[in-house]
Amino acid sequence: VSKGHWEESSILQSFLNYMKFLGAKDPKVEIRAEYPDAPGADSIGSAMVHSPGGDGALYALIQENVNKRKGNIDVWYNAPGKKLIQDPQTGIIHGVIIEVNGAPKYVRAKNGVILATGGYENNPDMFRNFAIMQHAYSKGARFNTGDGIVMADDVQANIVNMGNNNGPDPNVINPETGISFGYMVAGSKDSAWAGPAFTRHNVIMVGQDGKRFWNEVQKTRHGRVPFHGDYVHLMMPDPAYMVFDENARLASKIYGSWSEGSEKEIAAGLVKKADTLEELAKIIGVDAKGLADQVAQYNKFCEAGVDPQFNRPKAMLKPLSKAPYYAVQVQPTFTNTLGGPERNQNAEIMSRNGGTILHLYGAGELGSIWSHKYSGSGNISESLVFGRLAGANAAVVKSDVSQESVLGGKPGFRPDETAPLYQLQPGEKLGIGRGMGGVIAIAVKTDGGKIVSIRVLNQHETPGIGGKAIATLPNEAVANNGKIDNVSGTSVTSNGFRTALADALSK
Ligand SMILES: Cc1cc2nc3c(=O)[nH]c(=O)nc-3n(C[C@H](O)[C@H](O)[C@H](O)COP(=O)(O)OP(=O)(O)OC[C@H]3O[C@@H](n4cnc5c(N)ncnc54)[C@H](O)[C@@H]3O)c2cc1C
Repeated sequence: VSKGHWEESSILQSFLNYMKFLGAKDPKVEIRAEYPDAPGADSIGSAMVHSPGGDGALYALIQENVNKRKGNIDVWYNAPGKKLIQDPQTGIIHGVIIEVNGAPKYVRAKNGVILATGGYENNPDMFRNFAIMQHAYSKGARFNTGDGIVMADDVQANIVNMGNNNGPDPNVINPETGISFGYMVAGSKDSAWAGPAFTRHNVIMVGQDGKRFWNEVQKTRHGRVPFHGDYVHLMMPDPAYMVFDENARLASKIYGSWSEGSEKEIAAGLVKKADTLEELAKIIGVDAKGLADQVAQYNKFCEAGVDPQFNRPKAMLKPLSKAPYYAVQVQPTFTNTLGGPERNQNAEIMSRNGGTILHLYGAGELGSIWSHKYSGSGNISESLVFGRLAGANAAVVKSDVSQESVLGGKPGFRPDETAPLYQLQPGEKLGIGRGMGGVIAIAVKTDGGKIVSIRVLNQHETPGIGGKAIATLPNEAVANNGKIDNVSGTSVTSNGFRTALADALSK
């Protein structure tokens, strides 16, 4: 795309058309380059199902489309791929061994197998082996344990970019959720979808030696920070702490879902409090002199309006000067990994012995096309683009294998599809909605126009956020005969519950 002419980009137009084809009513394009100072950055745009985003609308749209094609697409849950079946003579991939109820099952694929198992974000051993951090919290994809990498390696695929991942972002792990989204703590301005940027106040981050390790108000580029004219992964000490004073505490919540002035988190002991910096250092096990020296030096930077240590901007140089002082541990967090089997422009997996591995295709973040300067939104884009390429090419009928059924037309096994998905009790009606974590299914019983009970049958809302709403909404809906308010900060969950309720009541 020529500079500044992203509107004319045929690539973006085709994304918009594709989303319309999937059923998006009002898709939008926004300029969103991860490296705005890079040449050509003003030509990079992001297509969205609607704006503002951040509510899982694309996932919902795609799932809806899969559901619509039920006759052509079988979805098997709890049937993980374990091993590719490769002809040792020809190298052709003939299928995959999957595991169902603890037993191996052999699935033949006449024309192709597509690996789209994501990265290794939730495999701590792989993380230690391949990423530059010894440990880090993954913010997503709980079941992405690098299986596709192992399966591809097993058939001699060329494994690339294994050290490349999107992090770290220093962040507080919310004990209620066990997770955290990366941009909620650090940053220079609040964000509608990420929450308060707490570090723009009287806050610094230090390692065990009491010394700062970065410009706390910068937005990382998925974990990358400026370094001598380049961007490299942030070097983050572990453990690390966010240290702040009374002014910061009163200025902002740490997380959107946390209490004002962090009152509850201080009472729970998550945020440590002390009258002096020395006492605070002792409580968190940080070198007291190191911290005192660092704070004194940082406060001088604030006075001068210049931060020669990390270049924190003048407007956000706010001293730590008002007792009491507070500290909370920050952890390295990251979204996803990018390494895996290399693929070519046809989504064919490349062999480390040269050429392609016949009938094996790949899509998504597994063996991502994005190398060490990942540009935000590129993962979803490549999932869509390479998903379509891989699907189209794997579906081409191949002439190098027999198209006859090896079972002589007899069906193989299938998971039991006759079992109902949800068990309803007499008088209950099923209601389906969609929250932040996918399907919300509820069973609603009415008597003479009054709701008498609501049972939640399925939900995967974030514990401590949407999960809290799901815990209270059924009782509230029964007490008020269906009239419910949004639980603050959980509009997607609340709306999903409302849709499920309306669905059940319409039956
Ligand atoms: C919090 C967060 C925010 C993000 N924001 C953005 C964003 O704004 N824009 C963007 O482009 N990207 C974003 N990303 C990254 C993006 O979401 C992922 O890179 C993308 O979804 C990857 O898609 P995928 O299909 O390759 O893998 P996934 O969507 O992760 O799917 C892989 C699937 O494979 C399954 N699986 C794993 N092992 C096996 C096995 N052995 N057998 C069968 N199935 C298996 C997993 O259960 C999973 O369902 C974000 C990621 C996170 C965590």
